[in-house]
Amino acid sequence: MFAGRDVRTDFPVLHQKVGAHPLVYLDNAATSHKPQVVIDAVSRFYERDNSNVHRGLHALSMRATDGYEAARARVARFINAASPAEIIFTRGTTESVNLVAQSWAAANLRRGDVILLTEMEHHSNMVPWQVAAERAGATLRYVPVVGDNAEHGLDLDALDRLLTPEVKLFAFTHISNTLGVITPAAELCRRARAVGAVTVVDAAQSIGHEPLDVQSLGCDFLAFSGHKMAGPTGIGVLYGRRALLDAMPPWQTGGGMISVVEFGSSRWKPSPERFEAGTPNVADAIGLHAAMDYLDGLGRPEISLHDHALAETAYAALAELPGIRLLGPAGRRAGLVSFALQDAHAHDVVTFADQDGVALRGGHHCNQPLMRKLGLPSSVRASFYVYNTPQEIDVLVRSLRRIIQFFRA
Ligand code: PMP
Repeated sequence: MFAGRDVRTDFPVLHQKVGAHPLVYLDNAATSHKPQVVIDAVSRFYERDNSNVHRGLHALSMRATDGYEAARARVARFINAASPAEIIFTRGTTESVNLVAQSWAAANLRRGDVILLTEMEHHSNMVPWQVAAERAGATLRYVPVVGDNAEHGLDLDALDRLLTPEVKLFAFTHISNTLGVITPAAELCRRARAVGAVTVVDAAQSIGHEPLDVQSLGCDFLAFSGHKMAGPTGIGVLYGRRALLDAMPPWQTGGGMISVVEFGSSRWKPSPERFEAGTPNVADAIGLHAAMDYLDGLGRPEISLHDHALAETAYAALAELPGIRLLGPAGRRAGLVSFALQDAHAHDVVTFADQDGVALRGGHHCNQPLMRKLGLPSSVRASFYVYNTPQEIDVLVRSLRRIIQFFRA
């Protein structure tokens, strides 16, 4: 994989012990680690180019502006957007969804309209729509999650009933952060378009793991975070189709987003500046640029194959453990596996695994309604990225066997 390259040497944080054990980091769905090239890109900006962007005419400000705008153009290429003007930098997925909810939805939703979501949405792609619906007098509908543990997926037959002309917006995840389900995003966008609904794709879990092309997906908006794709925290992206962005009001106002200000009123710049009031996160946009170069250097189809293979290996190995309930599909799944142990609470599992150097995540994973539907208070999640290995899955399984024995004794 990755043409024989030792990817682990690119990530300085991996080379440490937790207590007496080498770190086995399996919490990548929460946040991924950063390769040295990303850390260097951010440091270099502060060491050499640090300056504010856009209104400066001196050398450092011009270099900072060039770096920031080059990062925007790189994002456009990374997701095959038609133009850099369709790329808005935000703090992350959560802020990107809130931008659409507070701008597009506030301007376009009316009483009686419907927002369609799925039952597997992360709170970040659910709560902003609850608030937007309440403000507009709109209602929410959910595409159900159906099937038993081995076949969890979206009830696509229910879409015919749910996707009526009252639906003005359909927001759904590309990859479920708990179930590992990969949704048929292009088909969902096509079916939404057929009833005139605008689509919002939450790509938080897919952007760093799968090749992604917004034009072939056919989505109107797409949101993601830099920190889950080998990039820095505090930087993310909202992609929006130009025609929609041009018609949307700003959601935050202030410097940088205006064309003319009078004492009484102001006029706005076009996208993307209209949606980026105030000093942006220049350093981390530049770090994100380095992360995209890094991921493309490894090859995004190769990353996808690597992560899927680890998840399959982990799923099969974990299925052997006594008293385990695995969540999500047994077949095609993204690079993560969630499970619950009969005898141990998820938080205890994570705490015990940490004693073996294994970093997992336990809880509701910001999927409270889904967990309630599955009849579980919480689950444990192991999630994989480019630097994880099959040997680390062996360590995970050994650790879980120890935990099961402890709680059964
Ligand atoms: N959606 C999904 C599917 C996620 O997994 C996450 C992060 N756990 C988010 C949205 C929110 O991302 P962020 O916290 O970076 O805004």
